Amino acid sequence: MKNLRKRVGRFLLMFAMLFAGILLPQNTKAVWAADGSMTVHFLDVGQGLSVLVESEGQTLLYDGGPRSASSFVVSYLQERQISEIDYLISSHYDEDHVSGLIGCLNAFDVANVIGADYVHDSSLYDSFMDGVAAQGLTVQHPAVGTEYEFGSGKFTILSPQNISKESNANSVAIRLTNGENSFIFTGDADYNSEADMVSSGIDLSCDVLSVGHHGSATSTSWDFLQATVPEYAVISCGAGNMYGHPHEETMEKLSDMGIQVYRTDEQGTIVVSSDGNSLSWNMDPCNDYTSGDGKSPAGESETQGFAGEQYDDQGESNDTDSIEADSAQNSQEEMVWISATGSKYHSIPDCGNMNPDKAYQEPLSQAEAQGYEACKKCF
Ligand SMILES: [Zn+2]
Ligand SMILES: [Zn+2]
Repeated sequence: MKNLRKRVGRFLLMFAMLFAGILLPQNTKAVWAADGSMTVHFLDVGQGLSVLVESEGQTLLYDGGPRSASSFVVSYLQERQISEIDYLISSHYDEDHVSGLIGCLNAFDVANVIGADYVHDSSLYDSFMDGVAAQGLTVQHPAVGTEYEFGSGKFTILSPQNISKESNANSVAIRLTNGENSFIFTGDADYNSEADMVSSGIDLSCDVLSVGHHGSATSTSWDFLQATVPEYAVISCGAGNMYGHPHEETMEKLSDMGIQVYRTDEQGTIVVSSDGNSLSWNMDPCNDYTSGDGKSPAGESETQGFAGEQYDDQGESNDTDSIEADSAQNSQEEMVWISATGSKYHSIPDCGNMNPDKAYQEPLSQAEAQGYEACKKCF
């Protein structure tokens, strides 16, 4: 009986503490432990991008998704009892990135707003600037290389190096680190912007790459992938989107490099936690390298352990490729050899370790369009 009373007392005390934590805003931060952990949420905003990061009571929101997802983003943060956003970052001012940020500027206290230094001719841009002004803030345009302490880690500004007329190319990209773990978000940054990031000399290695421009072929160059060497790629795009995102070229590169893939169009909101050493995800990668318009990568690497059905796909694509090759040969276009694995095209069917029985020919222009590069040994 005494024991029971003790237990009830303890229960009531816990209950009261829990309530105090929920009801009193000044206690909200106290419920966060300084445990060195960081959690990254890739929100399922359909065709757009929104990434929420939490660490030791601090909050960073990178983009807010399109208009249609604005209320979802606000309620997602509210459910997590977030009352203040420490860093609100607008990669650029296109509708599918900035809309949800306007909702958040209206719903939360914001301490810092970071964005690119250009004017977008849209009412959304005006609303965003009004929201920033209503917080008594101005948009900060930090130089490339600027570092910010955040939670148990930090983030570094990677772009834009200069402002162009193209909205996407102005995207503010960041590299976020927590101990040994690192993430890169690039908004809709294009090849040129990626090249600037590579030549900046800033460390671009990362565990997780938020794939640029929803997997469009205008982003994710080979050079950028070679500089970032991510273990995981997360693609934020809408199911059945009108742009065919993610594009075949991008998915082939990710597949060729054996990068594990998560996709919001297939898996919804994806959450990954870092303890400073390792990552834990709320689900397994889907590793679906099919493009938004339904094409699977040709020459799927056999070393990546794909299921049997993928080999069947490969057989089919080889057949169609050789038919195309025959017809193209008549028009005398230069033909190259593609191996069953790898990312290069060859002048001979048996270069290096490639299996000549599985190699096939296709026009040079087609190989280049698919992202294959010339083999340095035979070309
Ligand atoms: Zn976009
Ligand atoms: Zn854009």
